[in-house]
Parts: sequence; C-alpha cells; structure tokens
Amino acid sequence: MHPFNYIAASSVDETLAVLDELGPRARILAGGTDLLVQLRGERFEIDSIVDIKQVPEARALHVGDSLIIGSAVPCYQIYENSEIANLYPGLIDAASLIGGIQIQSRASIGGNLCNASPSADGICPLIVHSAIANIKSPTTDRTIPVEDFCTGPGKNSLQNNEMLLSIKIPLPSKGFGAAYQRFIPRNEMDIAIASVGSAITVDTIDSNITHARIALGAVGPTPIFAKKSSDFLIGKQPTQHVFEEAAEIAVGEASPIGDMRGTPAQRLQLVRVLTQRTLTIALERAKTNL
Ligand SMILES: Cc1cc2nc3c(=O)[nH]c(=O)nc-3n(C[C@H](O)[C@H](O)[C@H](O)COP(=O)(O)OP(=O)(O)OC[C@H]3O[C@@H](n4cnc5c(N)ncnc54)[C@H](O)[C@@H]3O)c2cc1C
Repeated sequence: MHPFNYIAASSVDETLAVLDELGPRARILAGGTDLLVQLRGERFEIDSIVDIKQVPEARALHVGDSLIIGSAVPCYQIYENSEIANLYPGLIDAASLIGGIQIQSRASIGGNLCNASPSADGICPLIVHSAIANIKSPTTDRTIPVEDFCTGPGKNSLQNNEMLLSIKIPLPSKGFGAAYQRFIPRNEMDIAIASVGSAITVDTIDSNITHARIALGAVGPTPIFAKKSSDFLIGKQPTQHVFEEAAEIAVGEASPIGDMRGTPAQRLQLVRVLTQRTLTIALERAKTNL
C-alpha cells in the first residue's frame, strides 16, 4: 500500500484546506470502513487522509425543524436515538443492518452516500425520506437532493475541493410511513442483490395516498429514485392491488446487470417483491402515525 499522511482535522476549514491543496491526492475519512478497505486493495493511491470524526459539524445530530445528520455520525448513534427512530423508520431499517455492530460503531450514512455504491443500504432510505445533501467547498455552500448525488458506481457529484458536510431530512408529516428492505444471500454482512425503500403518506386511515416515494438499490449504476411508480401511487387507495401495480411500474424503472451475485431476472423479481413488501410496511407505519 502506498504510504499516506494521516491528518485529524478539527474544523471544516482545516478539512477543506487539505482538499483544496491536494485535490484527488487527499480523501476524507469518516468511519473508514470503505476507504481503508479500498486503500488496502490498492484501488487508488493518495498522499493524505483527512479524518473528520473530530469536526463538530460532521458530528452534529439533532432534530429541530428538520433532522441534521453530520457526515461522520456513525450508524449506531442514529438508531439509538429514540426520537429519530420514531420519526425516520426507513432510515433506521438501514442504519441497523449496515455491516454488524462493530461496523455500525464506525460507519456513517454520509460515508455510505459518498462511497456511492449502487447497493449502498443507506441511500434508498435517504431518497424516500426526501433527504438533501449539504455540500461545502472553501468558497461556496450548495445543496443537492440525495437522488441526484450519485453519478455512477463509486462516483458522486462532489468536486475535489468539496466535502459532504451533513444530510438534512425534512420532518415527516402526520400519516407518513417508510420502510427499507434488501435481499442478501446470507443473513448479515453481505451486499444487497437488490433493495427497495418506500415511503407513503395518508391523511386518514381510509384516505388515498397523498405522497409517495420509492427508491431502488443494486439494480442500476446508481440508487434509483423510481419516480413513475412513486407518482402512480398518489391519489390511489393504498390496497395490495395498487401496490402490485406500483411494483410492476418500479420493475420497469430498474436496469440491473447480471453478475456473480444475481441475474437481471432475479433482480427484477426482487424489485417486484420488495416494492410490495416495503409499501405494505410503510402503510402499517403510516397508520400508527395519524
Ligand atoms: C465488514 C463490512 C460490512 C459492510 N456491510 C455493509 C452493508 O451491509 N451495507 C452497506 O451499505 N455497506 C456496508 N459496508 C460498507 C461501509 O461500511 C458503508 O458504506 C459505510 O456506511 C461507509 O461509511 P464510512 O463512514 O466508514 O465511510 P468512509 O470509509 O470513511 O468513506 C467512504 C468514502 O466516502 C468518502 N467520504 C466520506 N465522508 C465524506 C465527506 N464528508 N465528504 C466527502 N467524501 C467523504 C471517503 O473519502 C471515501 O471515499 C460494509 C463494510 C465492511 C468493511
């Protein structure tokens, strides 16, 4: 492995100064559970890693008029917070299944997003919770919806001198429910063959769906916001038949490859099944939230 410097940054400015100076020769370390594996595998060479675990903004985690998750907050801090667990069930589904306990004590949702794997478990839940990425460079601040953040396998829309500062998720309205599920060959510590996140909102126990978002993982070059199937649901009664129809539309929005973990046909069938299941769970959760 190419030797590199380790810099423990204590501020955003310090982090950005290193990125600005070294460009692609520097990388941010949040939990390091992707980065260190990739460096050991010599996937790329760098001169410095900048550890942001001590940067206050990257460790922020609070619920106000929205949820702010600092980019280095480890998964366990998210699912152990009961207020967040109640408000953001889809996110909790993901945070509590990424790796095992040891990984969850280091791995961040921000790192999961920046790593931009099509099968990343954190990204579909962020999309269905309508999350926004807060991005900072030495000169500008900008925001981008999470569904537009990943640009290809392992690629994201950050410039070399930019960092993901935090993720902002709006407060869910009354009658909101969300769920995330993945299919893996083993019970844990595996990569999703396909995954789906769903969110729906209903006004009353018998009312039509007023808001819906579906996101698909591991069935395209990036996690996919399934807009057609999401839009289809709005104004419909939340019945199993409608969920089956939405799942069929979601299948049409996936473009899976075949690899050693699964064929395209298997992945499409998984999209069909997981979309129906996550919509059903999202509805149950929505009804408890009226
Ligand atoms: C044993 C094991 C099991 C795993 N299981 C799962 C799993 O079940 N599901 C899953 O989705 N993943 C899994 N992973 C992958 C990994 O744990 C997750 O993707 C994790 O969320 C990454 O977060 P991190 O904080 O460790 O990121 P890091 O490794 O620190 O960073 C990941 C990438 O993002 C960049 N980055 C990080 N933070 C920022 C920032 N603020 N701004 C700009 N760039 C940044 C880094 O430079 C790096 O390129 C597993 C990994 C291991 C080793």
